[in-house]
Amino acid sequence: MAEEDCIFCKIVAGELPSTIVDEDERTIAFMDINPAVRGHVLVVPRAHSRNLFDVPEEDLVACAIASQRIVRRMRDALGAEGANILSAAEPVAWQTVFHFHIHVIPRNRDDPLKLPWVPAAGDMDEIKAAGAELTRG
Ligand code: 5GP
Ligand code: ZN
Repeated sequence: MAEEDCIFCKIVAGELPSTIVDEDERTIAFMDINPAVRGHVLVVPRAHSRNLFDVPEEDLVACAIASQRIVRRMRDALGAEGANILSAAEPVAWQTVFHFHIHVIPRNRDDPLKLPWVPAAGDMDEIKAAGAELTRG
């Protein structure tokens, strides 16, 4: 179902222009207009959902499978050495467009992207405590 004022619903409907690179029954994939690096693609379900909290499983699975098609094509067609996928849920996690999407980003050794956190050993008690809170009881 399309949501009024959602730019990705408008792209899915063909009401806004986009550079589509892949489509299937449930998903479309198009080029990001503010690419992190050359070849940055967004995979979205055709049906509107806000983000990872509410996307229906069938759309999530379809987007994951489409993302795999895209990373393979990035490797084969663009010569990408690797890839990242990323999905932001809510503004606190950097979401700016509120239609679920997966960023698919080709990676190369000499690209400018940096890991957004600094890996450092954590406190084992805290790690276990958080794990316990996250474990289904
Ligand atoms: P978010 O910030 O929600 O994780 O990702 C939204 C992405 O959508 C951004 O990377 C942004 O560049 C991209 N974007 C925003 N508006 C448009 C648009 O009109 N067309 C396309 N192709 N991408 C867009
Ligand atoms: Zn939408």
